[in-house]
Amino acid sequence: MLEANREKKIKIHTLAEVDQVTGFIGNFDVRVKKFPRYIDDNKCNGCGLCAKVCPVVIPNPFDENLSARKVADRSFVQAVPPTFDIAVDSCIHCYECVAACDQFAVDFSQKEQYIDFKVGSIIIATGWDLYKIKKYGYGIFDNVIDQLELERILAPNGPTLGHIVRPSDHKTPKRIVMIQCVGSRGEENAHCSQVCCLLAAKNAKLIKSEIPDAEIIVSYIDMRCAGKDYEEYYKRSREAGIIFVGGKVGNVKEDPVTKNIIVTMEDKNSGEILEVIADLVVLSSATMASDGTNQIAKVMKLEQSPEGFLKEFHSRLNPISTKVPGVFLAGSCQGQKSIGSSVSQAKGAASAVSVLVNNEKYKIELFRAVVEKTDACSKCYRCIEACPYGAISIDEKGKIDVSVISCKGCGTCSNVCRSQTIQLRYFRDTQYDDYIDALFEETPAK
Ligand SMILES: Cc1cc2nc3c(=O)[nH]c(=O)nc-3n(C[C@H](O)[C@H](O)[C@H](O)COP(=O)(O)OP(=O)(O)OC[C@H]3O[C@@H](n4cnc5c(N)ncnc54)[C@H](O)[C@@H]3O)c2cc1C
Repeated sequence: MLEANREKKIKIHTLAEVDQVTGFIGNFDVRVKKFPRYIDDNKCNGCGLCAKVCPVVIPNPFDENLSARKVADRSFVQAVPPTFDIAVDSCIHCYECVAACDQFAVDFSQKEQYIDFKVGSIIIATGWDLYKIKKYGYGIFDNVIDQLELERILAPNGPTLGHIVRPSDHKTPKRIVMIQCVGSRGEENAHCSQVCCLLAAKNAKLIKSEIPDAEIIVSYIDMRCAGKDYEEYYKRSREAGIIFVGGKVGNVKEDPVTKNIIVTMEDKNSGEILEVIADLVVLSSATMASDGTNQIAKVMKLEQSPEGFLKEFHSRLNPISTKVPGVFLAGSCQGQKSIGSSVSQAKGAASAVSVLVNNEKYKIELFRAVVEKTDACSKCYRCIEACPYGAISIDEKGKIDVSVISCKGCGTCSNVCRSQTIQLRYFRDTQYDDYIDALFEETPAK
């Protein structure tokens, strides 16, 4: 993000979301909603005086609420832009920040702003969110956390500067249980989140490097370590003394006095039921499409999988394009993947866009939907719902309009149209009727 911010040809809109997208490849009109920061980016010099005088402390979402920030603060050190913002919902409006700021940057009159611009193509990279599941005592027992919270604890710029402590008493945990496939590959969600097996191995190894005598037990259904060097990494984790136990976890209880977590788990190999008293339990929870991914899918009418991930044109032959020409996917918005795969896909999407930029012409389909018998249209708009390419809209007079650029001539619209208002050029229903009549011409009885 910092690097992108330094690049003059990249314009970044922060604290913003895409509100509306209309148009077609080469001519998209985008409307972005920019939320107020209440501190003017152009005036703030990042001195931090506002945070110093702000009397209200709130949980910091950047650290998964494991650390605190002031209401007037910077969410994290490398934030882009490197300026401060005011979490206005928690503000008590004491205006200490206004008085302290010698740049006159604090501005409570800021409102939501809409910014309109035109683009030729769009790459969606809205990523994933963790499935916050009420299972295994998560959200109830202090010492049950998820991998994302553990990542923040392990981060050198995290709430404990990378030193692992358990939330209840800030003591160093000596026995840690990690539970895999929480909320995935089961009743809640059928999909595999793909990165969790390696993620557990990675974080277990990081803990081991800080606390060599820690006992770390990973309870898994099966370890999925496909990918270059990943099996070797898993092997090295076992050699480092991390214990991997195949089987499912049953019960998770808290000792109310020590706040230790008692985990009952099966060991598929021995057939035994184990009871482990852990200082800390870490859940490898499922990853789902992010709220932003769901929102952009709605705005751009893009197809989604049951978990909300955006559907590609073809999972094997064209995994970067969507069905809307000029709209491409990068990273975990399409399905959880490693950073390496996300970067590869992002580079692929960037190349696909540069091909379009350098082409002077764009080929449209010869066979495509055409609107006929407009007066017969019952305005059920099933065609708009059915079109996988987002090619059909309503014009200002309420009439159906098919984009000649976006239509791929699949015929889905004419199939669902009960009034035959929409027909597929060269494949009209009447043409089929004549064809069938000719094939099965009635032979006069002898
Ligand atoms: C706990 C955990 C640990 C992981 N650790 C590793 C690891 O060690 N190694 C590894 O290879 N992979 C790891 N992964 C996977 C890795 O996180 C993903 O590969 C990577 O984050 C995908 O990048 P992305 O840019 O597609 O999505 P994200 O990183 O999710 O980024 C999406 C961005 O889009 C923004 N956004 C969302 N919606 C909108 C919107 N509407 N408008 C504007 N912006 C929006 C979000 O704020 C976010 O900044 C881990 C995953 C998890 C769950």
